[in-house]
Amino acid sequence: MFRWSYLPCLLFRPKPAAIALMHSKVIIVGSGPAGHTAAIYAARANLEPVLFEGMMAGGVAPGGQLTTTTEVENFPGFPEGITGMELTDKLREQSERFGTEIITETITRVDLSSRPFKLWREGAETDADEPDTCDALIVATGATAKRLGIAGEDQYWQRGMSACAVCDGAAPIFRNKPLVVIGGGDSACEEATFLTKYASHVYIAVRRDAFRASQIMARRAINHPKITVLWSTHVIEAKGNGSALTHVVLQDANTKETRDLDVSGLFYAIGHTPNTAFLGGQLETDETGYLVVKPGLSLTNVAGVFAAGDVQDKTYRQAITAAGSGCMAALDAEKYLENLAAEEHERASGKL
Ligand code: FAD
Ligand code: NAP
Repeated sequence: MFRWSYLPCLLFRPKPAAIALMHSKVIIVGSGPAGHTAAIYAARANLEPVLFEGMMAGGVAPGGQLTTTTEVENFPGFPEGITGMELTDKLREQSERFGTEIITETITRVDLSSRPFKLWREGAETDADEPDTCDALIVATGATAKRLGIAGEDQYWQRGMSACAVCDGAAPIFRNKPLVVIGGGDSACEEATFLTKYASHVYIAVRRDAFRASQIMARRAINHPKITVLWSTHVIEAKGNGSALTHVVLQDANTKETRDLDVSGLFYAIGHTPNTAFLGGQLETDETGYLVVKPGLSLTNVAGVFAAGDVQDKTYRQAITAAGSGCMAALDAEKYLENLAAEEHERASGKL
């Protein structure tokens, strides 16, 4: 969803030469619940954090994935629910209240080979451009749900189409209605099973004749009385009445025959892309591209670089878990900087 309050920033972006570059104790890249929670904790620890919130980074407005949804009903503290936009505004406000400097720019390149770490902003990322620098870096750039780009997607996105069943599945428009999930992985099986709590029936459209999902998840979906698996099936179009989705067009992957399927909901579960391209492979990732952190901590393979939120979490992917890991990253960064200062003090006094 486009955020109109950012229009002036888009139209009147400063020229790279006008940028005030700086050295910071902590830089946070990313502006979802993970980034802002990290900023709140770091600011309250007097680390004077700087947070780069992005300028439509990865096509998403500053504030992250929550800016693309309507109601958030499962974030504790808001018993009546809160809109995604309001929640991101509140997180931003709280970061600023404790002194976080928020910069509406996207980081496109980093050098983590030595300290201070170097970061370059979009439009000023060549070797000739001066970087921002920091002693500790928190990466909280989130992940972007993959989409198919089928016909009708733009019109019916968030009007029956979603990429997050756990977030949107309980919405009234999906209750007691037939729904379809696209995908053949664990997410598709898990989301389809989750949706059976609300839907009259759930279809899973799998593009091949087999699941990629683990056996246990696949079996659970196949054996569920409210789930029908549509093997070798592509969903090629979303159709509706102009304001809400009413059916999809299916295509048999082998015969290419098409048919309509009446559904009120279409959920993509075809994977996420963690936003790590700007790191240029300098941090360890798993085989699906998620940043690897030490179990139970936020430490990456580079000392002084921490990761929080969906960029390092392919399992939970919720606002509250992102916020929790943002807190962990700030506390880990604080401890790291304390140790660094102690080491430097000892070195200066000749004890090291
Ligand atoms: P994100 O929210 O992904 O934010 C990261 C942001 O950082 C990016 O969007 C971008 O703006 C910025 N950024 C990225 N790269 C850069 C860069 N290089 N430089 C500067 N900035 C950058 N969760 C719930 O708990 N409840 C819900 O109801 C719910 N509803 C959802 C509905 C939808 C449609 C979606 C897609 C997700 C929903 N989620 C929900 C999941 C939740 O939004 C995510 O788990 C959470 O936002 C992840 O937070 P994050 O801080 O890791 O990153
Ligand atoms: P995934 O394992 O990458 O599976 C993506 C699925 O989407 C695959 O079946 C793939 O089909 C399909 N797909 C991709 N592009 C498509 C397209 N254009 N059209 C139609 N289908 C398409 O992703 P995931 O299910 O999100 O899982 C990601 C990781 O998280 C996995 O490691 C998974 O085990 C883990 N996870 C675990 C749990 C759990 O244990 N509870 C729950 C969720 C996720 P193909 O198979 O044909 O490639």
